Amino acid sequence: MQRSEQLFERAQRSIPGGVNSPVRAFKAVGGTPRFIAKADGPYIYDVDGKRYIDYVQSWGPMVLGHNNSRIREAVIDAAASGLSFGAPTEAEVFMAEKVRELVPSMEMVRMVNSGTEATMSAIRLARGYTGKNKLVKFEGCYHGHADSLLVKAGSGALTLGVPSSPGVPDDVAKHTLTVEFNNLDSVKQIFAECGDDIACIIVEPVAGNMNCIPPVDGFLQGLRDICDEHGALLIFDEVMTGFRVSRGGAQERYAITPDLTCLGKVIGGGMPVGAFGGKKKILTHIAPTGPVYQAGTLSGNPIAMAAGLAALDQLAQPGLYDSIFANTKALVDGFQAIANENNIPFTTNHAGSMFGLFFTDVDKVVNYQQAINCNQAQFKQFYHGMLDEGVYLAPASYEAGFVSKLHDEAIVEATLDAARKVFANL
Ligand code: PLP
Repeated sequence: MQRSEQLFERAQRSIPGGVNSPVRAFKAVGGTPRFIAKADGPYIYDVDGKRYIDYVQSWGPMVLGHNNSRIREAVIDAAASGLSFGAPTEAEVFMAEKVRELVPSMEMVRMVNSGTEATMSAIRLARGYTGKNKLVKFEGCYHGHADSLLVKAGSGALTLGVPSSPGVPDDVAKHTLTVEFNNLDSVKQIFAECGDDIACIIVEPVAGNMNCIPPVDGFLQGLRDICDEHGALLIFDEVMTGFRVSRGGAQERYAITPDLTCLGKVIGGGMPVGAFGGKKKILTHIAPTGPVYQAGTLSGNPIAMAAGLAALDQLAQPGLYDSIFANTKALVDGFQAIANENNIPFTTNHAGSMFGLFFTDVDKVVNYQQAINCNQAQFKQFYHGMLDEGVYLAPASYEAGFVSKLHDEAIVEATLDAARKVFANL
């Protein structure tokens, strides 16, 4: 760990907190973040040469595993023709067509450079299209760091949102209404109160930023119905779930059609890409066909499009999702059995290839309060134990884990072998 320690110390002199995205700093679990030198298949390798089975998968995108050869070659080929043109390219057309094929509710799609840009732009579009100001989001859901989305619930269910970061003006936060995930009554109440001015509901259809919390039966359909009743748009933030909880995303898995969809991460095969799209009659309100402004110098970047196309093409492999899902289930079932053997209060959630581990005596975790009430001290101990054993989980208990195509039965078994040692010492 010596080299990671040296780099972390050096990084903190020139980068705030030593990292370019806060969760990487290991604040939630303590200790030194591992600086990563390379990744391959299910593994990442740190700068000290230690290998880890990786369940972060670059926070989701590596459905096919790290360093996929077809994606890598597509990037190298595209780079040979130039890195960015600021003009339309053939690859953007192919990409838009591919996204439409995989996610049919996205009749039109606009590429951006990150998940944050996708959600921020989708919300501006929803407001511009409906002529309404407010948005409804869920406590514990994360949609990137745009001002109107960095807002938490006020003190009562029906209070206006309050900024969750300095720098977000109250005047912006007051338009964001935060309600409880998996609780339709809280959504109905807020619509009863402010429905006339609500432009949209934005939701992670499987919440992946408060650990992993799938929707309870009827929740997503309920949101669809409420939006229809009040003329609000339903936005699925599928930045994590897209192409992951099913090939067509959560909307395919749960058979609910949103008005707008946000994508990120997976769509670039690991390159910095995002996208938003939806009904044609809504998307044509975006510039240059409509008045809602949205733009990006590097949007639709040729290297990112090449990587994304190579990634999305491979998702059609027969049986791909069935086998990833089976391995995910084997993994969480294995964790549960080991925790039970050791009498540790513990439960798991999973949806497709996303999973969550909870140190709690609650049977099924379905909301934010239950997620944050888990035993943090035990998680930290577990986290460092697994890290020592060569298993890299997200360095915070509020993050989902991800399984790739290359986390086969042997990798799952190796992970559970590590877990047996760690649970025995908790
Ligand atoms: N939406 C969700 C559901 C996310 O998980 C994230 C990032 O983790 C974002 C949006 C923001 O994406 P990005 O970090 O690419 O801006």
